[in-house]
Amino acid sequence: MTSEARCDAVQARLSDAWLSRSEPALVDRAHARHCDACGAHERELGALARALSSDAPPAASDALVAATLRRAADELARRAAAQAALPEGWRRELGRLVAAAALPLPVVLLWNAAVLAAGGQLLEGLLPTALIHALGAAYVVAGATWLACLYGSLPLLAARTLRRRALESAT
Ligand SMILES: [Zn+2]
Repeated sequence: MTSEARCDAVQARLSDAWLSRSEPALVDRAHARHCDACGAHERELGALARALSSDAPPAASDALVAATLRRAADELARRAAAQAALPEGWRRELGRLVAAAALPLPVVLLWNAAVLAAGGQLLEGLLPTALIHALGAAYVVAGATWLACLYGSLPLLAARTLRRRALESAT
């Protein structure tokens, strides 16, 4: 661990102790006595506590605000990176899902073609041809949208399945 990372960890624990109103660990206090950065951090927290207990509106120092924002940004970036990374085995899982979803596809397409043909014959003579064609087009568009949503959700479904599986095996 670099000294900067160690100081970051010490300052984070000092802040945690301050927030939970408990005494910081002896080793952290000892470090803060000999470290300029951590000592300054501890004094900032003390000053903030005094300001909070007084009637005057408290003002955190720019350094404390900047350090807190930097720490929060690091944590958010770490979580975002963990979320953005595709879980291991995603391609294999996606392949399995696509294969499973493609299996009934010919039946679905044949069924829809049959519905279109039967619907056209049924409505012929009852409705104007242009209206029958418009109804057929609407049916095709709705079916294509449904299929696009179904197959388009497979990559997300694969990632979710793997993350859930990883969570379940971790607990
Ligand atoms: Zn330090």
